[in-house]
Amino acid sequence: MPDMSLKISIPLRKSKDKAFEELLLNKWRLLIEKFQKKWKKKLEDIGEDFVMIFWERVSLNEIKWDLNKYLKEKLYSETLPILENYSMSLEKPFNKLYIKNVLSRWGSCSGTNNITINLKLVHLPIKYLNYVIIHEACHLREKNHSSKFWDLVAIYCPDYKELRKELKNILF
Ligand SMILES: [Zn+2]
Repeated sequence: MPDMSLKISIPLRKSKDKAFEELLLNKWRLLIEKFQKKWKKKLEDIGEDFVMIFWERVSLNEIKWDLNKYLKEKLYSETLPILENYSMSLEKPFNKLYIKNVLSRWGSCSGTNNITINLKLVHLPIKYLNYVIIHEACHLREKNHSSKFWDLVAIYCPDYKELRKELKNILF
């Protein structure tokens, strides 16, 4: 009896995802370039018929209301429980959470423990948001970038160095 089984070669899911991710990342870089040129204009003016939400392509037609507001609320509701979780684990409460469209940084933690998250993180894979939240949450305990701070970050996010480098390449 001949072997009638069908052999299909499928690329490894991981490498497939990686290629897809790179493709989208290139796309994202182009969007960012345009975006920075038109910085003061609305996000809709990117001139595309879609928007990336946590690395998923979402048609603008599906968003019936103000896109900027929609993205802010989306990111806020995604960030809040994650931040609360780390804040609790660190036993350091935060004051307020803000989502802002800022150019120069991915996140910040003020002296009064207000945490600000860059709205643009809503477009990227969620692993970057997670890293930025961890970074800012760790500032609730360590208000600097000392080795003590990075050791703390590494506990919650062992691959932080890679994520940090990738984030730097994306925007700044
Ligand atoms: Zn920092």
